Amino acid sequence: MTQQLWSGGRRALLTLGGLTVVSACAGTPPKPTGSAPAPATPPPSPVPSVPPPSPTPAGLPPIAVQSKPLYVVPAAAVPKGAKAVALTFDDGPDPAYTPQVLHILRKHHIKATFFVIGQQAHDFPDLVKSIAGEGHAVGTHTWSHQDVSRMPAGRARTEIGRAVDTVAATLGPIPHLFRAPYGSWSPTAFKVCAALGQTSVAWDVDPRDWDNPGSDRIRSRVLHQVGHRSIVLNHDGGGDRSQTVRALRNYLPVLIDRGYRFVGV
Ligand SMILES: [Zn+2]
Repeated sequence: MTQQLWSGGRRALLTLGGLTVVSACAGTPPKPTGSAPAPATPPPSPVPSVPPPSPTPAGLPPIAVQSKPLYVVPAAAVPKGAKAVALTFDDGPDPAYTPQVLHILRKHHIKATFFVIGQQAHDFPDLVKSIAGEGHAVGTHTWSHQDVSRMPAGRARTEIGRAVDTVAATLGPIPHLFRAPYGSWSPTAFKVCAALGQTSVAWDVDPRDWDNPGSDRIRSRVLHQVGHRSIVLNHDGGGDRSQTVRALRNYLPVLIDRGYRFVGV
């Protein structure tokens, strides 16, 4: 089944059969651009798997099981009359790039959402604290950047829950936003997320920055695809993200000029 989702006048092709949506993440091999849906088979993770033994993840109280992730900002999260966009950053925190992203956001007084990898959060807790301390939202992106759609419930619960617990141990509040690596969920993964109180968040704007297509191309893709209530996918980790940083520096002023307000998901 293929569903076409309109967002702010831009049509994003989302393949929901098998619940794999537009695939993007650091480590993904180059794919042809255009509207062709991403292959259902994700590439190897940039991070070794094998999550360490974990106690039962704590998470939050259960929520309703989603049948699909959020592709756009919920209307309730948009201030009345505002033209809104949500910036999101995956695969960090990264000691080289996360501080650069934070600097740019700070300069423009913009808040974003960071979907951090549990292992990275464990290794760089001060960066997680910096993200939250500057008013950004921190969600999770599994413990070791694994495709949770291919896991049985127990393993998915460990992958997701350990990242949630790591962030909670670092920040105090338990995070409640989750993004699946490769944008790949399954009915089982949705159930696991719901049981841990995690809202699944995808995106409708993917400049494929993980593929290092050049900062100009990242910038132009964002500016062409973005619309009211868009969720923009960026990466602040998982590889050389200097193009992402440069593109962000260039496209943010344009979005500001267009009158966007920057909101959470
Ligand atoms: Zn990722």
